[in-house]
Amino acid sequence: MACIFCKIIAGEIPAHKVYQDDAVVAFLDISQTTKGHTLIVPRRHVKTVYDLSAKEASQIFGVVPELANALRRAFSPIGLNVLNNNERPLQSVDHVHVHMIPRYEDDRLKIGMPDHHDALRTQDYEDIKQKILDALS
Ligand code: 5GP
Ligand code: ZN
Repeated sequence: MACIFCKIIAGEIPAHKVYQDDAVVAFLDISQTTKGHTLIVPRRHVKTVYDLSAKEASQIFGVVPELANALRRAFSPIGLNVLNNNERPLQSVDHVHVHMIPRYEDDRLKIGMPDHHDALRTQDYEDIKQKILDALS
């Protein structure tokens, strides 16, 4: 078993676990990008969100509110980012995970989202919508 998160789940390598149930485990991210940075993972080795069943997705994301509230009570952050990276180069560990990242004043973390709405017309949104609808059907 080469996957580092599978080894953590199996208890073969140490991690600071904060939540466990039949389907899901959550533990501190070793990087502690910000204080309390936590990862939520399915017990089953699943590479990306593309591979998750709807049930597994609901089990993983079902833990988000409880953990978010615990992080808020524990550290009083100014906010919280919930983040998931899929596929390289975005994803560095190939076992799907949700980052819970409490945010603090001056935490120097930048998660930028460019706003392109000035460059778009209604038809552009319609075209994008239609592509997604076609892909869904
Ligand atoms: P990704 O870049 O795939 O979205 O995030 C992977 C995360 O896994 C990184 O934030 C990284 O710090 C964390 N990580 C990598 N190896 C380990 C480890 O051995 N233990 C823990 N607790 N976290 C790890
Ligand atoms: Zn794994």
